[in-house]
Amino acid sequence: MTSFEYFYNDIWNRTIDKIQQSGQVEETAMPYFGSKLIGLNDDEATISVPAFINFSIMTQHLSIIESCLSEVIDKKVKVRIYQEDELDILPLGSNPLKNIFSSEIDPNYTFANFIVGRSNAQAHIAAQTCASNLGIVYNPLFIYGNSGLGKTHLMSAIGNQVKTLFHDKKVGYVRGEEFTEAVVKAARENKLEQFKESFYDLDLLLVDDIQFIAGKDKTHEIFFTIFNKLVNNKKQICITADRVPSDIKGLEERLVSRFNQGLTVNIEAPEYETSINILKMKISNNVYCSPDDFVVDDDVLNYLATNFSQDVRSLEGSVTRLLFYFISFKKPEDGDHVTLRLAMEAFKDQIKENKNQLTISTVRKAVCDYYNLSKQQITSANRTKNIANARHIAMYLCRKLLDAPFKEIGDEFGKRDHTTVMSSCEKVEQLIKTDPIYLKVVNEIEARIKK
Ligand code: ADP
Ligand code: MG
Repeated sequence: MTSFEYFYNDIWNRTIDKIQQSGQVEETAMPYFGSKLIGLNDDEATISVPAFINFSIMTQHLSIIESCLSEVIDKKVKVRIYQEDELDILPLGSNPLKNIFSSEIDPNYTFANFIVGRSNAQAHIAAQTCASNLGIVYNPLFIYGNSGLGKTHLMSAIGNQVKTLFHDKKVGYVRGEEFTEAVVKAARENKLEQFKESFYDLDLLLVDDIQFIAGKDKTHEIFFTIFNKLVNNKKQICITADRVPSDIKGLEERLVSRFNQGLTVNIEAPEYETSINILKMKISNNVYCSPDDFVVDDDVLNYLATNFSQDVRSLEGSVTRLLFYFISFKKPEDGDHVTLRLAMEAFKDQIKENKNQLTISTVRKAVCDYYNLSKQQITSANRTKNIANARHIAMYLCRKLLDAPFKEIGDEFGKRDHTTVMSSCEKVEQLIKTDPIYLKVVNEIEARIKK
């Protein structure tokens, strides 16, 4: 449960207590069972209930619910109650920008299908908080990170949630380059005032890849005016970029400083665990074959996570290729299993490229970084448990990832004999099979090396 869900649960539980204490309703236990506060905005709260029976009773309590909830949060709000299954079919909030920009929010990018892990947790919680507290908490919310890490997905999830839960809210989505083109067009047609005004009605403005408005003076000026107007009116703005505001070349100082007044969060490349969870979801949601018709072996997931976790788009691509290859070239003896052998065949060209860039010293360095050791320590004669353990893993990974000869590995680790290297590799192989925590550590290091 995220902290804002705790926050909502707390508000809702206190509201129910108040309603009960007011003596104005018979009881809350049964009719309120399963009800949740799922959205809270400037002037409106959304409650979901599991079934029609809850809906019909709670609707009769609407005014007492409104007054108790308003008391708990110390702000007057209207309450809307929906049945859970109704939420998906509500009319959506409108988009006043749809006549100016061709791109729209992708309805498939939601919080429900966004996998959360260490690499994106901050951005995720900030986005959820923003979606439920438009214009109140973080304004603007600035999400940055490399390409393919989920910025557009997360930003769209805010838009989709707001459109679903608060269907009278107006949500606009624009990409940086489209904004720039539209300003040029509006200036040519002498319609800059109208252009700006079309934004002023929005409750939520999503600006994707703002780095593309950099260096264009007129565009900055127009954006600055729109930005100030919306923020001053407590309307929410969410922005994405491929780097922090201060690193965007050509972005005016006054814009950078306005962005810094809100919250800036980073999305990083997915770590091993998150990559595995993303792969599992993408595999079960794939459009090529029914998830009941095949089983992807765990070592295949590991193989994809360690080789393609530089960004989520690459992970997605790896699933597409894997399943294409499975459908087209599976061997009868594999039955419905997607095996490691098949995966290695499917990716033999791509992964060879990675291999060429790796060297014994990059592998050694990655292991040293992981365990906070120096090169001297890992290549020394020291047999302290953690140093010896790191050395074994480093040697094993040199063998696994580079196919390096035992002798060469031995030379690079303090001129050790090739039989020492062989026995180190065997030790690691044995431990991987028997100790899941050890396996996790080795996988995590391997994933870092591949990045
Ligand atoms: P960016 O805007 O950062 O370049 P996108 O938001 O376009 O990246 O994400 C690229 C692809 O990866 C999209 O298909 C998106 O759905 C998917 N994706 C990214 N992060 C996640 C995640 N945490 N969980 C599920 N899918 C994700
Ligand atoms: Mg994007």
